Amino acid sequence: MRSPFRQTIERRPGSHFRSVMRLVGAVVVVLFGAGFTVAFYLIRNEVDWTHRVWIGLLLLPGILYVAWIEIFGLKRYVRGMSALVDSARQIATGDLSQPVPITKGSLTTELGDALENMRSQLGEQHEEIMTLNNTLEDQVRQRTLALEILSAVAMGLNQSLDVSVILHNALEALLSLFGGQTAAVFLTDAARTKLTLAAHIGLPEEHLPALEQGLIGEGLVGRAVTGEKTSVWQAAGTPPPRSEGLGGDWLARGSLVKGLQSVVFVTMKSKGRVLGALVVGTRNHRQFTDEEQGILYAVASEIGTAVDHAQLHARVKELASRDSVTGLFNHGEFFRLLRREVVRATSLHRKLSVLMLDVDEFKRFNDTYGHLSGDAALRDLGRELLAAIRERDQAARYGGEEFAVIAPDTDAEQGLEMARRIRDRISALGQLLALPTMSIGVATFPDDGATAEDLVHAADERLYRAKESGRNRVVGAG
Ligand code: GH3
Ligand code: MG
Ligand code: MG
Repeated sequence: MRSPFRQTIERRPGSHFRSVMRLVGAVVVVLFGAGFTVAFYLIRNEVDWTHRVWIGLLLLPGILYVAWIEIFGLKRYVRGMSALVDSARQIATGDLSQPVPITKGSLTTELGDALENMRSQLGEQHEEIMTLNNTLEDQVRQRTLALEILSAVAMGLNQSLDVSVILHNALEALLSLFGGQTAAVFLTDAARTKLTLAAHIGLPEEHLPALEQGLIGEGLVGRAVTGEKTSVWQAAGTPPPRSEGLGGDWLARGSLVKGLQSVVFVTMKSKGRVLGALVVGTRNHRQFTDEEQGILYAVASEIGTAVDHAQLHARVKELASRDSVTGLFNHGEFFRLLRREVVRATSLHRKLSVLMLDVDEFKRFNDTYGHLSGDAALRDLGRELLAAIRERDQAARYGGEEFAVIAPDTDAEQGLEMARRIRDRISALGQLLALPTMSIGVATFPDDGATAEDLVHAADERLYRAKESGRNRVVGAG
């Protein structure tokens, strides 16, 4: 910023004339002094009237000059000074709009010049300050918006550990504060070759199948994952060809995202690892400034970290619900799932069958082949069990050499049939691979019990009967 003292005050043109006038004034004063001295001398020596007239004439220019100074000069000086004082007061209040009135008179002119100079410098500085102020205000506005968006998005992210829920919350918060009509998040798969649409707002339902999957590196979205932090697409530019795949297709066909004018693609990372892309589109043309792209990149990183955590949490949860030997659900998860199915069957008035399975004479198998072979046999039995049931059924390792199956929408007869199918499959395989057989007890909701525990208890009793009746058997109702 310019220093207020940097500029020196220049002399105004005409100041030479004033210097000469000042010199003339000085000569007149000297003459007046001399005349006065002579007059004083003559008066003291009692001179006559003629001499007194001469003395008077000698004094007259000085008297006139003093009178001129006093009457005109002083008047103008006072008027000029009072105008300058008014002007200085006005400047002091911050009003720099009026120029300083500069009156003639050496002191008032110099003062006026200095004041005017100060006014114009203050004006320039004021303008500089206002420009800087506007820039700072803009920056503060941008930063505040960035913080608001980030905190709103972070709040959305913290509300759940379900990836689709957190993504939807985050996109809603982002669009409400950042503006825009369309937002979507694409996530990479574990092998990092494919991209899947994980959450979206504003994408037309009928176009979703075309957007659901794409390849990394292809199309605008695919390239956003591998390329720069952000890239902007404007409708005014050349549309990408149809063959570009995900993103390329999406934007090229135009009708897929009707009316979108500007779209920004943002790489989404967590701990330096690319997790996908965030896409934000607007129906009106939008420039997406560097600051805005910076905000979106920060938001994408925030989302990326949350997705990372959610995926990790899901993996840990999945591991915690599984049995490490067979990969089937464990005892705890079996009861959680069964209770959920009982609630569902109760409210929908559906049947639900539970199968309890126990390996026959497994102790002898262990004694014969060793415990490691016993473990391998349990793994094989688990795999066969999984292969024998339907997709909506759930198999679990209940404990030791005991397994369980939850079969929703399955009545007693269907449950029995299912148990026989499993028994036959395992028994047939056992003859080939030297696997032990299994005995199975079947219980059905609501006939054999209204709670998870009652159903397990009923199926267990029938399993015991299957054992008693010779093993490798199935016992159900009746
Ligand atoms: P039954 O036909 O009456 O069920 O006879 P069984 O020998 O299978 O029953 P029992 O309860 O006497 O013995 C169960 C055996 O299962 C004993 C135990 O060593 C074995 N077992 C339980 N869990 C595991 C496991 O994780 N690995 C191995 N190898 N064996 C197991
Ligand atoms: Mg047992
Ligand atoms: Mg057993």
